[in-house]
Amino acid sequence: MKGFISEKELLNLWEKKLSSIRDEESFNLYIDNPFCVQQCAYCKHTGSLKRDYEDDFSKYYEEILPAQIKIFSSLLKKKIPDTVYFGGGTPSAMSFSQMKNVFSSIPNFKKIKKKAFECNPNLLNKEKIKLLIENNFTYVSFGIQSLDKDVLDYNRRDNYEKIPLKDYIGKFEKEGVRVNCDLMAFIGEYKDNPSIEIKRVEKDIVGLVKTYRPSMITIYPESGFLREDKIRGAYLSRKLREMILKLDKKHNFGHQDEFLLSLNKDDILRGMEICYHLGVSLSSEELRETKKYDSSGPPNQSPVQNCLALGGFKHHRPWSYHGRDFVYHNLNEENTGFSYFITGEKEKKRPVFTNMDFI
Ligand code: SF4
Repeated sequence: MKGFISEKELLNLWEKKLSSIRDEESFNLYIDNPFCVQQCAYCKHTGSLKRDYEDDFSKYYEEILPAQIKIFSSLLKKKIPDTVYFGGGTPSAMSFSQMKNVFSSIPNFKKIKKKAFECNPNLLNKEKIKLLIENNFTYVSFGIQSLDKDVLDYNRRDNYEKIPLKDYIGKFEKEGVRVNCDLMAFIGEYKDNPSIEIKRVEKDIVGLVKTYRPSMITIYPESGFLREDKIRGAYLSRKLREMILKLDKKHNFGHQDEFLLSLNKDDILRGMEICYHLGVSLSSEELRETKKYDSSGPPNQSPVQNCLALGGFKHHRPWSYHGRDFVYHNLNEENTGFSYFITGEKEKKRPVFTNMDFI
């Protein structure tokens, strides 16, 4: 099966799928947030720049996305998703009232057990934080990338001088919402110099651990840079792993898989672009549990699952999955509504929205 499919046919396929879902399969919901307030130099998931698309932004959250949620609401009433993930782009670019309306338009929203929201901390405020807590979100991921102002400037990203970042993280954690902070390695001006760049990442990790206390930290190496020169990439990856192992002795982090920190040459070459999840207040077991559920779709390594993706605008074309049987993506070029394109059976491609290897 390949090509465009009508909404009606798609709904029928989902109805059939959900009525015969097996115990070991999960049903997950992904909501795409295809706008950003800045375009960071290193990013592969960048959304359309909000200031260039102000009208489209409002129309998307106030008409287009709610209308699509309504079309699929019969499915969401029949089967409560196991998880929901708000990814992007930048979900926190929504206003408080847009967030409130989107949450309340999803049937049984409060009953969805695991809920995740990606945040740019600079776009949060007390009201939005309260709303996420009241709606029983279980996980928020802060795109920190670095605490170093020069590195943020170099990547055209705002720094965190104007917000009470520690207070934001503390508010969530106090209410039992797990906070993850993303950091990026190899994005500084001197990214090929480990004595500067690895030191900077180490300082960021220690700063988060000592001052901000999120439940977990995820370190993403900038994969495009590592791929440019595999020998240099492997050398820098080794240095990054050595630094994490050194910090481990002191902070006793939880790990998703110890193997990912192997210093064996072949293991490094094979896993140069993986990200490193560090449990700050989570043991390895708790970390694995937190990261067990998933809205990112199969492919090979993930458990068989079903993911209904809603939303998308221009180049953001989120993928939906029916187990390993087929995948399709949403197209919304002109912000007038969606068409759906099935890409062929057993598609191996990762979704464009990723950054969600956790949920
Ligand atoms: S890192 Fe986040 S804010 Fe920056 S371009 Fe990518 S999705 Fe947008």
